[in-house]
Amino acid sequence: MMQLETNWMKRTILTTGISIALGAAAAAAQAPPAGASFGPSNPFYAPSTLPFQAPPFDKIKDSDYQPAIDAGMAQQIEEVEAIANNPAPPTIENTLVALERSGQLLDRVSLVFNCVTGANTDDDLQKVQEYEAPRLAAHQDAIYLNSKLFARVKAIYEKRASLDLDPESLRLVEYDYQQFVKAGANLSDADKAKLKKINEEDSTLENAFMNKLLAAAKAGAFSTTDPKALAGLSEAQMAAAAQAAQARKQQGWVVPLQNTTQQPDLTFLSDRATRKAIFDNSWNRTERGDANDTRSTIARLAQLRAEKGALLGFPNFAAWNLTDQMAKTPEAAIHFIDALAPAATARAGREANDIQALIDAQRGGFTLEPWDWEFYAEQVRKAKYDLDESEIKPYFELNSVLENGVFYAAHELYGLTFKERKDIPVYQQDVRVFQVFDADGTPLALWYCDYFKRDNKNGGAWMDTLVAQSKLLGQLPVVFNVANFEKPAPGQPALLSFDDVTTMFHEFGHGLHGMFANTMYPSLSGTQVPRDFVEFPSQFNEHWASYPAVFAHYAKHYKTGEPMPAELAAKIEKSKTFNQGYDLTEILAAAALDMQWHILPSSAPLQNPDTFEAQALQKTHLALSAVPPRYRSSYFLHIWANGYDAGYYAYLWSEMLDDDAFQWFEDHGGMTRANGDRFRQMVLSRGNTEDLEKMYKAWLGREPSIEPLLKARGLKETEGAK
Ligand SMILES: [Zn+2]
Repeated sequence: MMQLETNWMKRTILTTGISIALGAAAAAAQAPPAGASFGPSNPFYAPSTLPFQAPPFDKIKDSDYQPAIDAGMAQQIEEVEAIANNPAPPTIENTLVALERSGQLLDRVSLVFNCVTGANTDDDLQKVQEYEAPRLAAHQDAIYLNSKLFARVKAIYEKRASLDLDPESLRLVEYDYQQFVKAGANLSDADKAKLKKINEEDSTLENAFMNKLLAAAKAGAFSTTDPKALAGLSEAQMAAAAQAAQARKQQGWVVPLQNTTQQPDLTFLSDRATRKAIFDNSWNRTERGDANDTRSTIARLAQLRAEKGALLGFPNFAAWNLTDQMAKTPEAAIHFIDALAPAATARAGREANDIQALIDAQRGGFTLEPWDWEFYAEQVRKAKYDLDESEIKPYFELNSVLENGVFYAAHELYGLTFKERKDIPVYQQDVRVFQVFDADGTPLALWYCDYFKRDNKNGGAWMDTLVAQSKLLGQLPVVFNVANFEKPAPGQPALLSFDDVTTMFHEFGHGLHGMFANTMYPSLSGTQVPRDFVEFPSQFNEHWASYPAVFAHYAKHYKTGEPMPAELAAKIEKSKTFNQGYDLTEILAAAALDMQWHILPSSAPLQNPDTFEAQALQKTHLALSAVPPRYRSSYFLHIWANGYDAGYYAYLWSEMLDDDAFQWFEDHGGMTRANGDRFRQMVLSRGNTEDLEKMYKAWLGREPSIEPLLKARGLKETEGAK
């Protein structure tokens, strides 16, 4: 299952804490918030004295962040200057290890700041965020484009073969060099100036794209004063639509647009004209020739990125951007997309035939179009796979899922035990803290969970770090999971959907990747791995949610303790393969578009986005009339402004790894300590300390395979079977 993160854990060397809202970076310059001066009374001044250096949330005030962040940046710049100007010849110790030790104050404060701004924000914190985001971006540039510093990094890199380094230190040398080069450190001053101009224009256009898209999505809402147009919506959905109209001071009902091509309400709307109108609003939201039209913006962005790739010495932008990913090259990513396309489109074709048969049986008298798909697929789903949430939820009580499911699987696989700690301060009263112990009783980590929805919390679910593991810095990991489950009334149990259960296992999988981290250097630790690897441990951990021995252990009725009836459990399992031809094809089409845009050479002319998109889908055999891409180029936020440029394939790539890895467990005896310990030792504890392709292959004993992914999505059936 794919889990879109709100906080994708992209961090880089030197700045383990800096992932502060990219979108805010372009916010209008603001006067700095009135900040106190920084001194020993600031709770970030020195490392926390609490167990595991846990943040002293009982002492931290909103007004403490900004002075600590500013002091942290100033301190790191001083440290970096001292490294760059060191008269001694460069060594790994006086340069790269010294860099690893730099910026500890900044890390300490920014990790906590990221946590509270994501999970428990307020107006004051948001002001600090808007003020600091561009300063933090500039801070990072100041380090990467420091030419004296880079000269030292390069000197070490060039003689690395003669240095007799341990494997992790060698990886650090190669990784740091790669990150500096990727940022443009190797360019002449003239080319650095060119790069700076490209980056500035790119950032301006990304911001323009975001603003246009936001306005376009708002303008694309469907409005009506005729309730019959919305026939099929539930009372609750109608109430939400009435409320959306009121919020806009409009009469009647409003169905706002969501960011994907397909819109959730299309599943329920029985009026075909309404479905078509909503779909058209979605599909054409940014192509109306008005002020919100993004086509010229994305055409120029693609051209700029091609120029950037060429300037940095690569045939195209994707080739540059994939150098530090597991896939390494656009060719590998494209080959992967190509390999999945036939099974996905063949299944989507059969799903389309099923739907057409249903339309014909109901004497619809029309050919299936994209705006019909969800509506009729839902009828197929109801007939073949129906799951009643209210029947299921009593078996998924939160504490049972956590302790008898999530913790239980971690105990069986890795020997972990958990003890709740009420003495560790938290940032909000719903947050719980557990100390995690290894099989031999050694303290391993602190793990926080913050599961219930709040108005001041970002949507979705995510994992992040409060203290990063590092042997160099003597730090054990402190990590947290956030979700948005419905909070029950006082005294009532929290009953979850199976999606929620899966989310808990998913985020805990990221948590294990952070908690098992056992590396020397903080910038190679835990979840600090490439985009196309980071979702692997989390998605892998989802598999245990439905593993029979684990499922039976937690899925018990909260009142009676009875296990879930077998036929109900079987329905959950079967529903996972519903509509997977469509789902996989729409994602592949988006991934293919992303890659085609980003392999354009710098010599290519400015593209017409519509022509380009149609040709790209034809060329990649993903042009299905009833299955449009999950995002059209002109509203593909991930790739134009959210850091997934040439990276959208990463979701599926990680899925290949997690299904493949789970298959390995199944082939080797399933949930055993021996299997768990081997996986922990060879993968989960290793962070980014070796080439990820090599790490994966060493553990698996072969190349990754797409077959288990196709099987998990139910696409491995024999021809003719249903
Ligand atoms: Zn995730």
